[in-house]
Amino acid sequence: MSFALKQYSDNPIYTRLLQTALSRLPLALCIYDADTNLVYANDTYMELWGFEERDLAQELNSQRLTRQLEKVTTESSQALVEVLSGYDDCTRIEFRDGRIFDLFTLKFRLEGKKDFNLRIWRDQSQQAWQLEQVTEQLGMFKTLTNLLPDQLFFKDANQCYMEVNESFLVHHGLEGMDAILGLNDSTLLLPEYWKRSEFEEQEIIRTGKPVVSDLREEVRLNGDRVWSQCTKLPYYDAKGEISGIFGFSVDVTDQRRNEQLIWQQANYDHLTQLPNRRLFAERWHSAWQAHLRDPKAIGLLLINLDGFKIINDSLGFQSGEQLLVSVAERLRRCVRSKDSIARLSGDEFAILATDLKNEDDLRVVVRKVLAQFDEPFIISRQSLTVHASLGVAYAPEDGEDLDTVMMHADQALHEVKRQGGKNWKRFTEELNANVSQQFSLANDLRYAVKNQEFSINFQPIVDMQSNLEWVKVETLIRWHHPRRGWVSPADFIPVAEQTGLIVEIGEWVFHEAIERLAEIQQETGLSLLVSVNVSPRQLKAEGFDPNRWLEHAKKLGVDPSNIVVEITEGMFLDPDEQVLGHLDRFTELDMKISLDDFGTGYASVSFLENFSVDVLKLDRAFVNDAEKTPRRRILAEAIINMAKALELEVVAEGIETEAQSDWLRAAGCEYGQGYFYSKPLTPGKLLEQLRERQGSKG
Ligand code: C2E
Ligand code: MG
Ligand code: MG
Repeated sequence: MSFALKQYSDNPIYTRLLQTALSRLPLALCIYDADTNLVYANDTYMELWGFEERDLAQELNSQRLTRQLEKVTTESSQALVEVLSGYDDCTRIEFRDGRIFDLFTLKFRLEGKKDFNLRIWRDQSQQAWQLEQVTEQLGMFKTLTNLLPDQLFFKDANQCYMEVNESFLVHHGLEGMDAILGLNDSTLLLPEYWKRSEFEEQEIIRTGKPVVSDLREEVRLNGDRVWSQCTKLPYYDAKGEISGIFGFSVDVTDQRRNEQLIWQQANYDHLTQLPNRRLFAERWHSAWQAHLRDPKAIGLLLINLDGFKIINDSLGFQSGEQLLVSVAERLRRCVRSKDSIARLSGDEFAILATDLKNEDDLRVVVRKVLAQFDEPFIISRQSLTVHASLGVAYAPEDGEDLDTVMMHADQALHEVKRQGGKNWKRFTEELNANVSQQFSLANDLRYAVKNQEFSINFQPIVDMQSNLEWVKVETLIRWHHPRRGWVSPADFIPVAEQTGLIVEIGEWVFHEAIERLAEIQQETGLSLLVSVNVSPRQLKAEGFDPNRWLEHAKKLGVDPSNIVVEITEGMFLDPDEQVLGHLDRFTELDMKISLDDFGTGYASVSFLENFSVDVLKLDRAFVNDAEKTPRRRILAEAIINMAKALELEVVAEGIETEAQSDWLRAAGCEYGQGYFYSKPLTPGKLLEQLRERQGSKG
């Protein structure tokens, strides 16, 4: 409906006004009558076709011109023109020269009789060009997004996918866009995961706040697990309202897998797949944090296999590993889901039990662990009985940090080991006192050599088969501590061995023993044999050389055949080439080898076969218990007989009574040592006594 002011509508001026306006319209406009005669054409129309007014004035009614025009336009439409759809009541005509027009046709009837066609040509060239540009840009943009390794997507306000890039399709294993268009995440993910995403997106639509989600795992309908990090932004339409969600997501599954692998390697023991020391420490930390919130006790259990080294050495490394794997499997059965179990090193395992109401809770675990070793293990088709020792400590009672609690559990474990293993012990303050004493001993030992706090004693060894003559002496070290007084070698020798100080101390003992013996030799003319206790650690030390001992002895006029190197069979538990080489060397240099504390250790008999030994020292346990336990005595006699058969000398240790002396002599034992004959003596006292004995004989 158009409008015209009343005073103009009937006025010819109005017609002129309209004509002018129509002529100047930026639209090409023409009117045909029903016979397709051109009735009217405005300026723009004439410019479009390049007509002059006079051409038209002359031939306005000419059929020819009209046909010509029709031909041009029709031919244009047919030959040159592509008719585009999308405009309901108009036809798009594209000319070869690039111009594009939309042609609108309006049929109308005049005064109820005559029909006319109004045609409007609207020049769309500029707009079409712009549209083309935009389409091209969009195309470029789409190509670009498809090249991106990240997944891009656009969802409408109903959280249904409207557009996704190639990466998205690949990542989700989709064939094409149709597989996802108009669908939501329930098509892709398990319910738990799409519901989380749905909630998140509803929040974005509600609040307009973007979401940068954490690294997260999603499980697809086909069960694949993928890790991605997703950023989602609200999408605003032209009216400024949120009409959808735009998101991009980075697939970090591979990276995550690598990270997990590295993490696995850093935190788990590769052999047993149990957590390692590192992860165990983390678990402790979490347990301690939980304890701070809810103060329930934490129990730490250290488990160590008894004699694992022997198994490893005798059955081989692979069997040792098999055993550790089987032990790990059995230990797993002993813990509750909230407890942690770890392999700390070698044959050392640990259990962290949290949330303990009382000590009984952990005792249940302890009993279970010990029970796991009741059944033998089947390793390389062999049935193997293995036992374990357990040390237990509690937090916060025995310590508030892992190091302390671990150290205390370790002290308890050591005590179990010391008492023969196959048992468990809870940490006590008494144990701690022992250990801290050892710590300070280690410290004080460092200064003892320098401060000349050591001295030696000689304990006579008698010939039992003759008139109890003193034929040999054993060198025993003595330490007078400036504050503690006399400290027993049983207490400080193990510490010296652990700290390595035994190397220096051992050298000192040997030199001192030879010097004092040389003096006694000179004074008395007696040629006593002297034995010196030697730790394996000394023979393993770099630079140890038996020749130096020989030179020292020669220099002082002591015959090497008078020197006895006393070793314990522990030496053979871990025999290394160097140690065995030194022992051979001693023999080559004419010194003797004596096996101390014989009968108490592991494979006593078997290594007599393989190693050259001159003397057996029957352990004092045989002498002590022989009266109470007849089996002991039978064993002692058997050992004495065996030694004789092997042409070894036997020295019985720890003889305290005449009765002991008698039955040992009767059993054929050649030599004896013990308080019954003489306590260990200072070199001065020994010299005195020897002189006295010489005097009384003479
Ligand atoms: P061992 O080599 O078996 O020495 C014998 C130990 O038994 C000595 O203890 C000695 O005093 C003690 N003993 C001797 N007769 C009797 C007896 O009738 N009854 C009892 N109950 N004990 C007796 P000691 O001097 O306390 O030495 C203990 C251990 O320390 C020695 O045992 C030896 O293994 C070690 N040791 C001593 N001196 C040295 C040393 O210079 N170097 C090394 N590496 N170890 C040493
Ligand atoms: Mg000895
Ligand atoms: Mg001994």
